[in-house]
Order: sequence, then C-alpha cells, then structure tokens
Amino acid sequence: MFEVVIGLEVHTQLNTNTKLFCSCPTSFNHKQNTNTCPTCLALPGALPVLNKEVLHKSIMLGTAIDATINQTSYFDRKSYFYPDSPTAYQITQLYTPVVEHGTLKIDFEDATHKIIRINRAHIESDAGKNIHDGDISKVDLNRAGTPLLEIVSEPDLSNGEEVVLYLKKLHSIIRYLDIGDANMQEGSFRVDVNVSIRPKGDKKLYTRVEIKNINSFKFIQKAIELEVARQTEAWEDGTYEKEICQETRLFDQVKQETRSMRGKEEAADYRYFPEPDLLKVSITDAMLEKYSKIPELPDEKMARFVKDYGMNDYSASVVTSSVEMAHFFETMMQAGITAKNALTWLTTELQGRLKGEMNITNSPVDAKKLGNLVKRIEDGTISGKAAKEVLDKLMEENLDVDAVIDSLGLKQMSDTGAIEDICNAVISANPEKVEQYQSGKDKLFGFFVGQVMKESKGSANPQTVNELLKSKLG
Ligand code: ADP
Ligand code: MG
Ligand code: ZN
Repeated sequence: MFEVVIGLEVHTQLNTNTKLFCSCPTSFNHKQNTNTCPTCLALPGALPVLNKEVLHKSIMLGTAIDATINQTSYFDRKSYFYPDSPTAYQITQLYTPVVEHGTLKIDFEDATHKIIRINRAHIESDAGKNIHDGDISKVDLNRAGTPLLEIVSEPDLSNGEEVVLYLKKLHSIIRYLDIGDANMQEGSFRVDVNVSIRPKGDKKLYTRVEIKNINSFKFIQKAIELEVARQTEAWEDGTYEKEICQETRLFDQVKQETRSMRGKEEAADYRYFPEPDLLKVSITDAMLEKYSKIPELPDEKMARFVKDYGMNDYSASVVTSSVEMAHFFETMMQAGITAKNALTWLTTELQGRLKGEMNITNSPVDAKKLGNLVKRIEDGTISGKAAKEVLDKLMEENLDVDAVIDSLGLKQMSDTGAIEDICNAVISANPEKVEQYQSGKDKLFGFFVGQVMKESKGSANPQTVNELLKSKLG
C-alpha cells in the first residue's frame, strides 16, 4: 500500500499599483508592451528600485499564516533563458526569504482539521507573456516585473481533497487581506503541484514530479489522480527507478494525461547568486507593526458570526466563504434582521436570481436594499411571498424597496380593525359553515381563513387573521 505526498508552490500576483522594481503600472488591459520602461525591459544601465508596497503585503500575508517575518532578507538572481524574460534572469529570494515557517489550517467536513506547514513565502518578479499566433510567436512585456509572492508548502498534503482545501483557504486569505486578485483563470494565482508516493509508513521522501499548467481546482484533483496512478503502476511493474524521475510535467486537460515537459533543472543550472543591483531588504519595526495589523480573517469571522448572530458552523462558513459574501451579509444584518432570513434571502433568493455574468459584487440589488426588503417581511409590512415579487421588480429596476411595495399594492393589512370587519362579514355570510365548525368540523377553519384572505386580496396579515377568527368562532 502506498501513501501520497504532495507539496504546493503557489505564485500569487500582488495587487500593487506599480511593478516590483520600476514605476510601470501593473494593469494588463493596456496595449501590448506599453507598460514598460528601461528597467523592466532590461535595457543596459537601468537599475531596479524595490517597491515598498510589496513588503507591506508580504508582512500581511506572513502575519496571516503565523510565520516568521525576516526583517532582513535578500534578493538573489536566478538565471534562465526564455523569450518572455528580457533580463535572462529572475530576481527572487532563494537563501533568505521575507517570510518563513508559517502554517495554514484546513478544515474537513467532519469538523476535524489538519495543520499544513508553510516553508516560506518569497518575493519574486513575474515574466512577460509569449503569445503564439500561428507560425509566429510574439512577446508582451506588460507583465514583466510584476510582483509575485511564491508561497511554498512543506510536503504535508496527502490527497487531492486536502490540496483543494489548502488552496481555497489560501485563496480566501489573500482576498480577505486584499493583497491580490488571486484569480486562477486569469493566472494571478498559479499552482505547481509536487507529487510523489511512498510505501505506507515510510518516512523517506521519494522522487517528486512537478505538475504545471493547471488552472482549476477540478483539474488539479484530476492531475494528481493521474500522476499517482502513473507512479503506482510503475512501482508495481518494477519500472519505478527507470520511469519516475524528478521532472516537470504538463497536465493536458484534453488528453487527460500528464506528460514530460522538461527534466527538472538542478539548482546549479540556475546559477543562483546574490543580486548585485539591490541592497538587502530591511523591514523597520514601524513598518512591521503597522502592516501586521491585518483585517479579520475567514476563521475569525466565522467564529464571530457563530457567537454574535447565533448561526451554526455550516451557515457561518457559507457566508464567510468569500470576503465579498461576508461583507454583503454583514451589511444586510445592519438592517436589524435575523441571520436566518438574511442567509436565505442572500443565498437562495438573491443568488438564485443572479444569472450569467452577475454575481454579488455587481448585483443590481445591493446588500442594503436586500436587508431593507427582509426588514419589511420581519416587521409585517409584506408577506414573504410578496417580497419575492418585490425582489423580481428590484432586479429589473433600480427602485426603492418601499416605493415598489406601494406601487405593486403589496402592503399587508395589519390594521386589526379592517381585518376584523372582513372576518365579521365572512362569518355572517356563512351561518351554516359556522354551525358545522362549532359542532366539531375543525377542518372548516381553513375555509374561513381562505375567505378572509380572498376578501382582502391577499393583503391581510395571516397571523392576525388566524388569531381573530379563532377568538370569534370560539
Ligand atoms: P523547486 O523550486 O525546485 O520546485 P521548491 O523548494 O521551491 O523547489 O519547492 C519544492 C516543493 O516540492 C515544496 O512544496 C515541497 O514541499 C515539495 N516537495 C519536496 N519534496 C517532495 C516529495 N518528495 N514529494 C512531494 N512533494 C515534495
Ligand atoms: Mg518548483
Ligand atoms: Zn517598468
């Protein structure tokens, strides 16, 4: 029997205004090669200057994963030749990274958890992009020199499920801290998966394969499955030594296979050496103090929701799954409504109506409005059913909640006097039914309720109707 050993390297782009070592903007929607300058084009004589914002965001991440933040760290030069890198090297941190020895907790459905150790998070610069267009390849350097944090886990993960939990947790922390977009499809959160197997109980680490080019959680799980199967088969066939070597493999989602991309370079091939164009990186005490005050993280927020709003763990985890969701929910709660209704109206009613490109961040009905709508149910102004009609209208037009309630005539009749008049009228119009009811035909109660609701055109508060009829019919 084998066990699976996995370690992850995550490259996350930091959402700084400017690049790591120059003042070019980091936005990519511009014309190709316009966000460039002598430094990120590596023209002779141009020198890098470190962007402080990158340090601020590194401190925030380091704090969030309970890591050591090295107040002195260094940049190193990693040489490689590839058309998307005009410098022919990458500036990175090999020997002393800015962040070391952190942890990340992942939670399983059965309420157990596991601590994954994080070896390090270091700063490095991104490359440009090669664009292959038929027979021609073009290079766009707008992305060259964009800051990345590479977050490297220890080989503590044992299967695809744990990998996805780890990545989702890390992703959500980055979003909560607002240090990056972490968009997997757009490449601002890139994952390299290192996989090996070993006989169960063995403590030794065996040869690892690094899989690149996977841009969804689903594919990551698939790639792991395929790679583990390949390694296991080789072991059982006795071809492990020959077949399994330390290399970089590519996941092909069409062919559903991993295949060799290149043999893994040894560190020596990269000719690492201390970056001569940059001074050591210093984080002052003041900077450390300021940026280690980080916003509330998903776990803390969840615990607070459970405590303050009396939610169960599951509901709290649903509304804290993303920072956008948590903000939306908390803004709704400011209307003074119950968590239970806020949750239902957010996750069932609103999200059920968000189609196509729509999501809670661009929803036509914002959190304040939805909170107000729920408030109108809770204070008895409208019924839950009427509220759905109001929400339909609000999805189409930017109107005020109360204005829509008025214009659609959905206000519940809560005026006891008016409802009482209707009850009296219904009772005196049906003397036989009253007699039958009073001689024991309980089922007729529903008939009376129905008649009153009908007379009020559905606007009578059903609870008031029930109470009045009970007391009148005895
Ligand atoms: P490199 O840059 O050469 O890929 P790193 O040290 O940056 O090296 O990353 C190594 C990654 O591989 C880490 O996430 C580590 O946990 C993982 N790893 C190391 N050895 C193994 C192994 N035998 N099996 C699975 N993962 C491993
Ligand atoms: Mg690697
Ligand atoms: Zn530049």
